[in-house]
Amino acid sequence: MQHRIVVLGAGYTGAIAAGRLARRLRREDVAVTLVNAEPDFVERVRMHQLAVGQDLKPRPFDEMFAGAGVELRLAEVTGVDVDRRTVAVVGANGAEELAYDTLLYALGSGWDTQGVPGTAEHAHEIASRPGALRLRERLARLDAGQSVVVVGGGLTGLEAATEIAEARPDLDVALAARGDLGDWLSPKGREHLRKVFGRLGITVHERTAVTGVEAGRVATADGRAIPAAVTVWTTGFAVHPIAKATALKVTDAGQIVVDGSMRSVSHPDVYAVGDAAMVMGPGDKPLRMSCASGTPTAWQAADAIAARLTGGKLPNTPIRYFNQCISLGRKEGLIQYVTADDRAVQAVLTGRLAAVYKELICKGAAWGVANPTLGLPVRRRRVTRERATAGPAVKAPA
Ligand SMILES: Cc1cc2nc3c(=O)[nH]c(=O)nc-3n(C[C@H](O)[C@H](O)[C@H](O)COP(=O)(O)OP(=O)(O)OC[C@H]3O[C@@H](n4cnc5c(N)ncnc54)[C@H](O)[C@@H]3O)c2cc1C
Repeated sequence: MQHRIVVLGAGYTGAIAAGRLARRLRREDVAVTLVNAEPDFVERVRMHQLAVGQDLKPRPFDEMFAGAGVELRLAEVTGVDVDRRTVAVVGANGAEELAYDTLLYALGSGWDTQGVPGTAEHAHEIASRPGALRLRERLARLDAGQSVVVVGGGLTGLEAATEIAEARPDLDVALAARGDLGDWLSPKGREHLRKVFGRLGITVHERTAVTGVEAGRVATADGRAIPAAVTVWTTGFAVHPIAKATALKVTDAGQIVVDGSMRSVSHPDVYAVGDAAMVMGPGDKPLRMSCASGTPTAWQAADAIAARLTGGKLPNTPIRYFNQCISLGRKEGLIQYVTADDRAVQAVLTGRLAAVYKELICKGAAWGVANPTLGLPVRRRRVTRERATAGPAVKAPA
C-alpha cells in the first residue's frame, strides 16, 4: 500500500513541498498528489507587474513537474474532513473526495478587505492573478490625468504604487498609508523611499485611514474624500475560510496553528505551510505572510514528513529573515536588511542595483519551485512507518 500524501495548493509553498517530498521518498512507497485550481504556477510576487501590463513567463506545472513523481489534480478544494481524512474537491469530473494519510495544507491567502464598506464592490486587488488581470484591464482604459489611489502602505502597497506610477506617468497616482511612509524602515530606507516617490510624482497621504470606498473616491477617517477613478486595496492578506471550517486548531484569522515541524498541533496527520500556517519565528513572533519565510516552511514540512515516514532525523533549521526586498518600479528598488525577527537594521541597498537584486530574488523563488531540493543530490528513502505522526510537538528553534 502506498502512503497517500495530498498537498492542497500549488503556490510557492505547496509546489515546493510536493516536489521535495516526491524526491525524498521512494516512488513505490508514496503517492504525492498536488491539488490546485489552476494548471500553471502563478508568480504571485509579480502581480503588480502583471497589473500594469507586463507579461510574465508561462510556467505550466506539467513542464515543472515532468518526471518528478507528483500527480497534479486540477480541482478546487471545497472542504477538508480531518476526522475522516478526506478532502472535498470539484474538478473536471464534478465533486469528488480524495482520501489521504498525510495532508499538507498550502492554500495560501487572498486580499483582505477588512470589512471596509464598498471595498469588495469598488476596489481592485492584486493578491491573485484574476484580480491583477482585472486591474490591468481597468488601468489600460484610464485616460491621462485620471486618479489611482493605492490603499495600504505595506510592502505590497509600495510596490503597486511605484509600479503603476512608473508604467503610467500620465496618471495621478496616490498612496494612502495608516502611518508614515515606510515607517518600519531604517532612516536611510525611508529617505530613499521618499526620494523615489517624489521622483515618480506619487502623492502620499500619511496617517490616513480609509474608511470607505465608493465609485470615484475613497473616504477617510478624518472626513476627507480622495478622488480615485481606481482604488487598489493592499492592506494585507486574509487566508481562505476552508481551514476554519474544520476541526483543526486555527487562529482567529483562520491560520492553522503548527509546531516547529509545520505539523498541526491538533491533528498530527495534517501539516500546514506558507500563508495558511501560523508559525512562530525568532523572538516568538509569528512569521509574516511572505515567500521569504513561506519557502523555508515548505522545506521544513517536507523534510519532517519524510523523516517521520522513514525513521530519519527531524530537521531543526531556524526560520529567520535576512532582508525585505522591495521593487520600486523596474528601475529602482530598496533592499532593507533586517534582524532574524524582521526588524530593520541600518544597512540598505538602493537604486538600480537593488532593482537587479530584487529581480534575481523573484527569479530565484520561481527556480526554487522547479528545483525544490535546490539542486542537491536526491536520495529517495524507504517508507518504514504507516503514519507521519510519530513524536511530540516540536518547538520552533529560536
Ligand atoms: C503583489 C505581491 C507581491 C509580493 N511580494 C512579495 C515579496 O517580494 N516577497 C515575499 O516574501 N512575499 C511577497 N508576497 C507574498 C507572497 O506572494 C505570499 O506570501 C506567497 O505567495 C504565499 O505562498 P503560499 O504558497 O502560501 O500561497 P499562494 O502563493 O497564495 O498559493 C496558494 C495556491 O493555492 C491555490 N488555491 C487557493 N485556494 C484554492 C482552492 N480552494 N482550491 C484549489 N487551489 C486553491 C492557489 O491557486 C495557489 O496556487 C507578495 C504578494 C503579492 C500579492
